Amino acid sequence: MEELEREDLKERLFLNKKNGWLERTDEEKNDIFKFADEYIYYLNKGKTEKEIIEESKDILQKNGFRDISDFTELHAGDRVYYENRERNLFAAVIGEAPMEDGLKLVAAHADSPRIDLKQNPIYEASGFSLFKTHYYGGIRKYQWVTIPLSMHGLIVKSNGEKIKVIWGEEEGESVFTISDLPPHLSQIQNERKLKDGISGEELNILLGTIPYEKTKAFEKIKLNILKLLNEKYGITEIDFTSSEIEFVPAFKARSLGFDSSMVAGYGQDDKVCCYTALRGILNITNPRKTAICILTDREEVGFIGNTGMETKILEKFIAEILDKTNQNRPNMLERVFSNSEVLSADVTASYDPTFPDVFEKKNSAELGKGICLSKYGGVAGKSRGSEASAEFVAKVRNIFEMANVKYQSAELGKVDKGGGGTIAYTLANRGMDVIDCGLPLMSMHSPFEITSKVDIYEAYKAYEAFYKN
Ligand code: MN
Ligand code: MN
Repeated sequence: MEELEREDLKERLFLNKKNGWLERTDEEKNDIFKFADEYIYYLNKGKTEKEIIEESKDILQKNGFRDISDFTELHAGDRVYYENRERNLFAAVIGEAPMEDGLKLVAAHADSPRIDLKQNPIYEASGFSLFKTHYYGGIRKYQWVTIPLSMHGLIVKSNGEKIKVIWGEEEGESVFTISDLPPHLSQIQNERKLKDGISGEELNILLGTIPYEKTKAFEKIKLNILKLLNEKYGITEIDFTSSEIEFVPAFKARSLGFDSSMVAGYGQDDKVCCYTALRGILNITNPRKTAICILTDREEVGFIGNTGMETKILEKFIAEILDKTNQNRPNMLERVFSNSEVLSADVTASYDPTFPDVFEKKNSAELGKGICLSKYGGVAGKSRGSEASAEFVAKVRNIFEMANVKYQSAELGKVDKGGGGTIAYTLANRGMDVIDCGLPLMSMHSPFEITSKVDIYEAYKAYEAFYKN
């Protein structure tokens, strides 16, 4: 009896993070697996930020959202989107309440770490033609060698003609790769620190080996590759100057584990939040406050530029809604922002049992235990980090609890051992209440990142509930 009472008390007083798969009905499990399959399909359709924006826009259009420029006036319940430079997408469902009461936003980023080409990339060396590259975002370079890579992007000729390129995704199509030394010859390389195991200038992509014979020119292999590219795309070497070509893992995202409980794939940081935030807003029909889903760009390189979250494009979109709902007045934008609430939807590092030393277990996000709230970010003394107020965290908790969303709270790694930043502060600086709220992710920024299907489903439920309440 006493034993029972003690258990009861513990149940009542202790924070008890439960495995998200426990106590699920078969129907719920089916929903979780089905949602994950749809997510995997989305991931495989869009590997770059532009592809994800295109795919997301398509989903919005199929669910009754229309370009805001199609409207002369807007009313409660209208579903609109705005696209910026094919790299940002803002979707809104207009609320009943005046905009001045504030907005409900969920903001994710569509860009992921990858290998970009240099401006003059193509060269020939010792029987090969290769591309010189400059990586984008925080990659661990040694992870990007000896894996199949595909090419995605755009070349724009000086006359403005746009040529879309994708190579290496189709079954049976050739792929690309970056070489590494055999263990037999890596004695000296092995002495390097892991972070320098492969250097930036060693990330050279193999393109081919066949020389173009009908010439006396040097660099016959490079010439042959350029000839092939000219025949296929009509380009010459100088056209790389005005191109955006990205190399990403050529393999597909898929289920992981004997129990298929996880998803492994490239670009889940932060396309997993893009998808769940997007699916969440599709369910919003007549919200009290205007609900907004943001898919931004350039998060991985510091939020800057005319497609990063520091740009004023969000202001432009909100001002257009204010105009078209006839609510715009001087300083209205600032008032709207200062009453707005945001979930900064970005992944966080999940506890890894193979590398426990960098985590403080009690304050680490765990795979499969639900969506993760991070009250603050920053490094060493919360430096340069955004922090949500206790009042706002309580409000978000309440929304999640009422909607039965499984959530946990955590920070990224041990104190003074690491940390990171998200776009949270860029929105907080506009006067909004913001909290980081995303999924735990294992092997972050690697070519094969890992999420839990149960967390994906909980994120979707969490974002939907947040837009609504
Ligand atoms: Mn991220
Ligand atoms: Mn990232």
